[in-house]
Amino acid sequence: MRAMIVGVHPLAGFDKLLHYRVPDAMQAALGVGSLVRVPIVNTMKLGIVGEIGAPTDFPLDRLKLVAQLVYPFPALPPDLLGLARWMARYYACGLDSIIETMIPAAVRRGAGLKQEKLLAIAQKLSPEELAAMEKRAPQQAKLYRFLEQQFRPQAKGLVLARLGQTAAVAAALVKRGVVREETRRIERVAYADDHAHGELVAAQPHLLNEEQQVAVDAMGRTLGAGKFGVTLLHGITGSGKTEVYLRAIATALEGGGGVVFLVPEVALTPQTVARLRSRLEAIAHGTRCVVWHSHLSEGERLDGWLALATGEARVVVGARSAIFAPVQQLRLIVVDEEHEPAYKQDETPRYHGRDVAVMRAKLAGAVCLLGSATPSLESFTNAESGKYALLQLTQRVDARKLPYIDVVDLRIEAAKQRTLPSLSGKLVRAMQDRLERREQTILFINRRGYSSSMLCTKCGHVEECAHCSIALTYHRTDETLRCHLCAAQRAAPLRCPQCGAPEIRWRGLGTQRVEEAVRRVLPRARIERMDADTMSKKNRFREVLSQFRAGKIDVLVGTQMIGKGLDFPNVTLVGLIDADISMHIPDFRANERTFQLLVQVAGRAGRGDRAGEVIVQTFTPQAEAIQFSRHADYAGFAASELKMRRDFHYPPYRHLIHHLFRGPNPEKLKFFAEQWAKLVEKTLGDRVELRGPAPSPIEKIKDEYRWQLWYFTHTVTKVVPELARLRAEFAWPDDITQVLDVDPVNLA
Ligand code: ADP
Ligand code: ZN
Repeated sequence: MRAMIVGVHPLAGFDKLLHYRVPDAMQAALGVGSLVRVPIVNTMKLGIVGEIGAPTDFPLDRLKLVAQLVYPFPALPPDLLGLARWMARYYACGLDSIIETMIPAAVRRGAGLKQEKLLAIAQKLSPEELAAMEKRAPQQAKLYRFLEQQFRPQAKGLVLARLGQTAAVAAALVKRGVVREETRRIERVAYADDHAHGELVAAQPHLLNEEQQVAVDAMGRTLGAGKFGVTLLHGITGSGKTEVYLRAIATALEGGGGVVFLVPEVALTPQTVARLRSRLEAIAHGTRCVVWHSHLSEGERLDGWLALATGEARVVVGARSAIFAPVQQLRLIVVDEEHEPAYKQDETPRYHGRDVAVMRAKLAGAVCLLGSATPSLESFTNAESGKYALLQLTQRVDARKLPYIDVVDLRIEAAKQRTLPSLSGKLVRAMQDRLERREQTILFINRRGYSSSMLCTKCGHVEECAHCSIALTYHRTDETLRCHLCAAQRAAPLRCPQCGAPEIRWRGLGTQRVEEAVRRVLPRARIERMDADTMSKKNRFREVLSQFRAGKIDVLVGTQMIGKGLDFPNVTLVGLIDADISMHIPDFRANERTFQLLVQVAGRAGRGDRAGEVIVQTFTPQAEAIQFSRHADYAGFAASELKMRRDFHYPPYRHLIHHLFRGPNPEKLKFFAEQWAKLVEKTLGDRVELRGPAPSPIEKIKDEYRWQLWYFTHTVTKVVPELARLRAEFAWPDDITQVLDVDPVNLA
């Protein structure tokens, strides 16, 4: 046989391709993507076969042998290996860190296949044969009779223990061909507990309405074409998008394909996942649907991964990282709530799950279906330009009206109450009314922003950067207002530049203060607060949600994490305490986020047979994000917002890259950030526009100072590899760390 030589990416914390010879006996089963054990210096390490072929710069006779092939199937199917290479270039990170993200830790440590042996009847005995066996070998007959009564194969160890027999008894029956022994992988199933005592969910599909049918038919044709394509499903809240996803999934599975179903957050919404899963398993004719998210135990993750890699399971549902599940013959990727920032990972590798989904679909020749009631402007423009197909659901399934959005002007409220109010009179009355009718209320506080912008509580004026159209940030240390994009700065005003009032500093409220305020006005109500502080345990979160569902809580106060994909029929009032927090964060996406938040929140109210009401409190009621959201006018909002984006050359018209520098010495940090910026300007100035460097919004974290630099560009795929090359050659001092973030979703 000819010598087979492979290039291996070691999973050993460095980014290199090493070459090995493959022993003859291993050659048939080994291929690109195989997980192997190879000698490196004096130890054995795991690695992924990246290519087949000889190195150009190394004498072949000195190559070592591959020591072991861990699984008889590829650990990274070819589309995933291609995806890893694309990600390494696009996001400027090491291939090793991506492979590490793609393959579960247990696999990376070379965990074997855990198997158990089963016994089943292979051939029925006639009554005479059985009678003969009773006499000659009573133990064997006993085992035979036991197995004959079982519907399915039984675990060998358990059966033998129960009958008090030795393995020799089973072996004798196997030898005669009466019993067969088979091996099966042992699996742990995530959320098995929810299945057991959770709500029983109907696996019955709905009859499609006309719009859904049109969408389903279109997806059928797209899938039938058998090639890459992206479809954006824009359907208002409650229009039944999930049903369209499920039909498309059924089509893909029936055609023998595999499916990835991404949702923004799995751990927080077990009931949604349980429901999906039971439907998916019904569609997939009983084959397993793997659930995949970051809270799985190692064993659970390994089992799910193996089931997919071996082709035993063909559907996976999960959060962001499920996009790397080793689904075979991938045919369809569904990304639900594609606009969600949660799809972006905020640590290395800083990838965007939706964008990676589109790329994986491309590499696998599969179809990607993106769905949302409020599509990201990136996806929307791709649909407008014809790059993506567009499907629309404009009606709610049962023709229920969208809830009424009532905007309370806090400027007037502040004048009336003579203090800064957390709860307006209108909101209080609405809550009292709900309490009397035994209906429920959710109060949202969007606490993600920190209110260091300047907002006048008299007139609603917000100080913005003239060049960047984002809110300026107030820096307490030197009483300045600064722009985080272009570094413009000036002294902070003492009075509002528009109306002259001195009330120009408004700090947003926390969940705790709102909870206290609710207790004062509704002393008899059962109130629960839900935020990162009170919900440090994942079970606590589920507990509160199930109490709320059971009607044991009247008012739920929380950050927007309670809004995600939850469906509470008895909630007829939703209050957004402070819309300004999300609207005036220093981020050009602030309007988009606020619009999304309002529309999504409104979609949660009154999902049962009762109409819902949404009350939005704000100092800036005239803001477009608020006005367009009142009628869920996505098209209107998109048109006006895209005009601003085009005027300022923001995404989706250009890509944005963030570069963060961290270090203990502020002068040194500034110096190197500036030197670096000069170098980039000189080398790539024709392809990127730089803004900064400037101190980060949070200038110092844990004794480390932070500076940042922004690049705007049309061509990420050309610019990022260049930046990565320059960065590798630049003489960074040891105490400065820096991080590149391509297509960041949060600027604030
Ligand atoms: P969204 O578009 O907001 O994701 P969902 O898919 O969650 O909407 O559907 C909203 C509700 O309508 C769900 O309870 C779903 O079971 C139900 N539903 C979906 N399609 C139909 C239909 N054709 N007929 C009746 N009910 C439906
Ligand atoms: Zn600016």
